Amino acid sequence: MKIEILRGKEHIGGNIIKITCGETAILLDCGAMLPQIGEKKREDDFDVSSIGRADAVFLSHHHGDHSGLIEQLPKETALYASPETVGFMDHLDLFLGRPLRTGKRAVHGLFDGERVQLGSLSVTPFRAKHSAEGAMMFLVEGEGKRILYTGDFKESDLFVGKLDLLITEGTMLTRDSGPYRDEDDVEAALRRLMRKTPGRIFVLTSSANIGRIRSVVGARNAVCPGGEGVLYRPIRQDVFLKYILENTGHSDLAAPYAFISHRFDAAADQAYDRIAKYYCDMGAAASCRRIAAFPQSVVFIRASMAAMLQGLMEGGMDVSEDVLVFSMWQGFREDPAVRRLMKLFLQGGAKIEYIHSGGHAERETLRAFIENCRPKAVACIHSENAKNIRSIAGDAQVIEESVIEL
Ligand SMILES: [Zn+2]
Ligand SMILES: [Zn+2]
Repeated sequence: MKIEILRGKEHIGGNIIKITCGETAILLDCGAMLPQIGEKKREDDFDVSSIGRADAVFLSHHHGDHSGLIEQLPKETALYASPETVGFMDHLDLFLGRPLRTGKRAVHGLFDGERVQLGSLSVTPFRAKHSAEGAMMFLVEGEGKRILYTGDFKESDLFVGKLDLLITEGTMLTRDSGPYRDEDDVEAALRRLMRKTPGRIFVLTSSANIGRIRSVVGARNAVCPGGEGVLYRPIRQDVFLKYILENTGHSDLAAPYAFISHRFDAAADQAYDRIAKYYCDMGAAASCRRIAAFPQSVVFIRASMAAMLQGLMEGGMDVSEDVLVFSMWQGFREDPAVRRLMKLFLQGGAKIEYIHSGGHAERETLRAFIENCRPKAVACIHSENAKNIRSIAGDAQVIEESVIEL
């Protein structure tokens, strides 16, 4: 069996792994490079044709650094992914008005523990905890050899028996863990914040992080300052977030009214315009001025909404009793659009709180995971310094080569 880590050994994201066994070849992920903070988004110049023939691509999850290049694969390459992964990618593509990445090839659903046989290889997916719903790890078997690929994960006690090679992510090998361990910690902190804050709670987070959105929505039933009963804070979401939640099985998290964050043209034939018009026609959208009108709302925002928020503040929205919750990886603070947003809130007198727990295994969790898996060898991917895996690999042989023959 031949394993080629075609990309992802030197940096976080852009994972592409090829496994060949006899006549059968599969890919584990086919990700695009993550844009560098502060840099303009560029086309990924990886030459997908250099991969050669692959019968199938198995996606660990929908994040672009794992799925971003699949549309460039030939249509004969079948796609295997969890229903959540396929559902999220499809609705993102529909909203953005681009061809479905899943559209031109055979798509097969993956389910926890259900083995798939493909020629001389078999793949068994296992659910993984990560900041993308439907994330999976893959056990690949062929010619008596067994490999586990983690994709991205936060924690796992998976043990699959004899393991010749573990290919693990190592995001946190160069990063400090924050004060919040998991989503329960995050929700508790949000609840405390919502109790003591008289004004709005703006939450800057990823629209793809369903677990975080659930924590925010769950925390809003907080007791009023002063303790006089329960304050039910209205939820405000823009058209994009409401659309994604309603179409990926999370209507319970969707706000009744979406706000319009960017002006739309009802006559234009762009997907965003059509969806925004649809919500308006259904009476399920409202002007962003409702954010200003309800001083106790919980408002989901993204960095791209700075212009809208600036307009509201200039129009008289007082944020001096509000809090902006920064609920993403700290590194995004360096992003110019995020900086502009934070400056805006600080100038308006709002407080900024950092409440976040990342989707990746911390160093000690990773060490315990490797110990529990007991692999003969370990290779690290998705890390700014994969060599750091040596300090936590225990008895496992560390493999730094990109091409591995088992
Ligand atoms: Zn990733
Ligand atoms: Zn991820």
